[in-house]
Amino acid sequence: MMQQWRHSWFGFWREGSDGCEECPSVFDWIDPEWKSGVDVDRVVRYLESSPYVLATSADACAICRNVERVALAYRTDGAWYWPDDLAHYIVQHEVRLPDEFHARILGSRYTPPKALWQDERGLVDLMKRLNAPPKHMAELRHLAENR
Ligand SMILES: [Zn+2]
Repeated sequence: MMQQWRHSWFGFWREGSDGCEECPSVFDWIDPEWKSGVDVDRVVRYLESSPYVLATSADACAICRNVERVALAYRTDGAWYWPDDLAHYIVQHEVRLPDEFHARILGSRYTPPKALWQDERGLVDLMKRLNAPPKHMAELRHLAENR
């Protein structure tokens, strides 16, 4: 199965509770075979240790309705933007990453950037530059402008 994905955000689902209408269905990204060619542990570590720009209260999983953590961080490696419960979907529900996202992780040798911004101004600039689903983009811009 080959999935085309044109965005540089991932892990936001139409079935999520935040009403993300422009987001894909999580069920279109379930691919039980994907994991066999992927170092899932290292991918998950990358996803959960990249710098975060925003944190909020956790959301229930769109598939199993579990809530695994109290807070949910939204992370970036400077190129991609995702919520860190993406790891739950990969580990528990056989969701795959877009090839470009996985290639990015491989290209960095599973090592997330340590610091994407030097100071407050750098963070604000980054938040304005990130590609996020429209609703998130509005939230990021709002946060950036009010820092
Ligand atoms: Zn789940």
